[in-house]
Amino acid sequence: MRINIFDIPEEGLEQEFVLPVITGNKAKPDTASVRIKLLRFGKKILVDGSVKGVLSLTCSRCLNDFSRPVDLDFREEYTPAEESEPEGRQELSGDEMGVGFYTGEEIDLAALVKEQVLLEVPMKPLCNDDCRGICSRCGADRNVQSCNCKDDHIDPRLAPLAKYKESLNRRKE
Ligand SMILES: [Zn+2]
Ligand SMILES: [Zn+2]
Repeated sequence: MRINIFDIPEEGLEQEFVLPVITGNKAKPDTASVRIKLLRFGKKILVDGSVKGVLSLTCSRCLNDFSRPVDLDFREEYTPAEESEPEGRQELSGDEMGVGFYTGEEIDLAALVKEQVLLEVPMKPLCNDDCRGICSRCGADRNVQSCNCKDDHIDPRLAPLAKYKESLNRRKE
């Protein structure tokens, strides 16, 4: 989905398209419905867009798949890459506005949309904030069943610390 900037008429150009978006290691991509409006001011392009779709994610605690709807708006300003000096990079004007660069005469809308969608994917997706995860001993999904393992379950966020302590103890031996 590439747009030649000189194809953008004075009154702007509106586009609607559906785009496959891969989140995580899915063989089956999700799709995002995109509505976009482009305005051109000389070589500066303003992109206003909205994206709707459903992301398939895998919970980082219990490893179950779950889906999360996305519905986001974005605004991005594009300037030609060759005319921007890396030193004098413009400050972001307003916190909502992203600044991008394009080379040649084309803007890659698919790349822009994918970037926006991926920003919505958390580093450690959780099916639920209270997800209890998988028992590190027996592998039971603790959301579904409680197991009989002694409850020495370590908060996954503290696991690296526990490992560190363990290695300290081992060093003492
Ligand atoms: Zn989970
Ligand atoms: Zn267990």
